[in-house]
Amino acid sequence: MEHSVLFYCVKCNQLKTVEQAGIVFRTGYYRVHYPLGYCVHCEHHTR
Ligand SMILES: [Zn+2]
Repeated sequence: MEHSVLFYCVKCNQLKTVEQAGIVFRTGYYRVHYPLGYCVHCEHHTR
């Protein structure tokens, strides 16, 4: 079965594909289905 390929970027405040993920948190989920994280763009701008 297919696993979710989306995550929620907490900085963009939108769902993105994991291909764009920079960091994906293990601790939080958005609407249960989607892991939280930063996309590559936001990760680059995060200290
Ligand atoms: Zn982002």
